[in-house]
Amino acid sequence: MAGNWKMYKTPSETGAFFDKFKPLVAASTHCEIVICPPFVDLPAAIDACHGTHIQIGGQNLFWAKEGAYTGEISAAMLKAAGSKWVIVAHSERRQYFGETEESANKKIAAALESGLTPIYCVGEKMHERESGKTHQVIETQCIGGVTNLTPEQFSKIVIAYEPVWAIGTGKVATPEIAADAHRCIREQLRKKFGPDAAASCRILYGGSVKPDNIRSLMAQPEIDGALVGGASLEPASFASIVNF
Ligand code: PEP
Repeated sequence: MAGNWKMYKTPSETGAFFDKFKPLVAASTHCEIVICPPFVDLPAAIDACHGTHIQIGGQNLFWAKEGAYTGEISAAMLKAAGSKWVIVAHSERRQYFGETEESANKKIAAALESGLTPIYCVGEKMHERESGKTHQVIETQCIGGVTNLTPEQFSKIVIAYEPVWAIGTGKVATPEIAADAHRCIREQLRKKFGPDAAASCRILYGGSVKPDNIRSLMAQPEIDGALVGGASLEPASFASIVNF
């Protein structure tokens, strides 16, 4: 269960969030819990979660190790700060910052090389769904992002299916729509990496996940977890998603 805070919260708000959130999930060992705050909040989040089973991740990275890339953060820097995870190619990164499967592929490789677990986001826009292109779009994104990964590298990544029309809109995909997309992703992975690797890859659903819809989504055997935006900003609501 992963929370993407997007561009919300200061370091002191981060501390206040974890003061409330930690006791609510102290006994929740049935899943991994990950929060991805803005970069400047990483030290506060990592300090707050020290000694707990809550893990912290970045929301983005750049693929070079270091260099003249003003404004960017490397995988090694995220790792050194104490992050274990990183979101790659979130649809907002694709929409506003021009990210593609090609850039995602380089970012995933860089994350893996530094020992971070990438959460690679794929998902179709509404007009693509309406024109019957959902499977084609998610196949292209999915395979483009994992090109050239070895089976061993692939075994360490997590994929998030996030239909763009469901992100931040309150319009959650039905469990059936989500499960169908997850099956499509898994089928592509099966063709590329074989049945065992595809079966063991964790695929998260993201897009308007809330405490009142998490149970029906997680009832789908194809859905292994959730990537949660808005509802991860509030301790009680993210805790009730974790503890569905
Ligand atoms: C997200 O940011 O990845 C997301 C799914 O947002 P929301 O839950 O707010 O739709």
